Amino acid sequence: MADTGPGTELVNNTVPAAPITWPSGVTAAACLTFDVDAEAAVLTADISAMDRMMPMSHQSYGPLVGVPRILGILQRYDIKATFFVPGYTAHRYPSVIRAIAEAGHEIAHHSYFHENTVGMDAKTEAAMIDLGLKALWDVAGVRPLGYRAPMWELNYHTPGLLAERGFLYDSSLMDSDHPYALAVGEHAAGEHAAGEEATGQGTARQGAAGDGRVLAEVPVSWGLDDWEQYAFLPGLIGTGLIESPAKALEMWTLELEALHRLGAVFMLCCHPFLSGRPSRAEALCRLIERMKELPGLWITTVGDVAAHTMSLGLTPRACTQPRHPRDAYWVPAKGERP
Ligand code: ZN
Repeated sequence: MADTGPGTELVNNTVPAAPITWPSGVTAAACLTFDVDAEAAVLTADISAMDRMMPMSHQSYGPLVGVPRILGILQRYDIKATFFVPGYTAHRYPSVIRAIAEAGHEIAHHSYFHENTVGMDAKTEAAMIDLGLKALWDVAGVRPLGYRAPMWELNYHTPGLLAERGFLYDSSLMDSDHPYALAVGEHAAGEHAAGEEATGQGTARQGAAGDGRVLAEVPVSWGLDDWEQYAFLPGLIGTGLIESPAKALEMWTLELEALHRLGAVFMLCCHPFLSGRPSRAEALCRLIERMKELPGLWITTVGDVAAHTMSLGLTPRACTQPRHPRDAYWVPAKGERP
C-alpha cells in the first residue's frame, strides 16, 4: 500500500544496506579495534577526577600496560588492527601511540578529549576534530582516514564535517550489519531547515569517494563493546558489574559466527584499560583463534574494509533524522524537557 495520508511525512524511506561483495576468496570481514580512551573518557565525565590518583591510574593502565600487551597479541597472531586515539591520549602518551603506528596498525581519530558530543554545535565539533587531527599529526605523523565518535555519538552534522576534511570513513553507527556508503546530507553543516521535506534514499545527495559528499560507514554495536562487560569505576563510569571474560568470549563468538554466516562485518570494540587485563586479553586470544578457523574471514583494519566498500561504487544511503510528530501535541519539542 502506498504511504499516503496522515503520518506520511514521518516515513523513513531509507533503504537497508545490502550485503557487499567482498574481495576474491573473502566471505566476511572482522576488525579488531581498540579505543585508547585513557584518562580522557573519565575526565570528560568529571574533570575533578584529575585530582584522584586511583581513577587516573585505572585509566593509565590502558596505554601503559594494556596497549603493549595487545600489541604483543596482535604480533603473535599476525593481525593488523585499528586503534582509535583521542588527541589528548596522543599528547599524554606519545611514545605509546608512535609504537602502535610503527607496528603497522591503523591509527584513527577518536575526538580530542573524548568530549561529550551530544548536542555539540557544528562549529565546536569542527574545532574538536581539527585539534584531534593536529595531535595525531604532531605526535605520530598520522593523517587518519577514519573517525569514531566518543561513545559513538555522531550528530547529524558530523558526517559533513568529516567529509569536508577528507575522511574516508566513520565507524559509529548501528543501522546495519554490513558496511555501506553513507550519504552526507546537504544540511550536514547545520540543522534541518524549516519546512524541509523528509529525505531518504531517493532524495539524498549522491556522491563518490573523495568528493566530500559520501563516507564509508563500518557499523558498530553495543554488544561487541567491552565497555558493557568490564567497565567499573565507582561513581565515574561503567555499569557497576564486572562480567567474566568467559561470558564476553561466548557472546562475541556467537556474534562472530552469525555475522560470518551473513557475509557481514564483525566489529569488536575494546579498550586497552579494560581488555588489556590478563584474563580478558587471554579471552581475546581465544576469540582470535576462532576467527582464524572461519573460512574466508578477512581479519583486517577498518580502513581496509572502508576502502574496499568505497571501491564498489555503491549508491550512498542516508541515515535520516526522525521528524517531530506535530499532531501529538503532548510530545515535547526539541530542547524541552518532558
Ligand atoms: Zn572512546
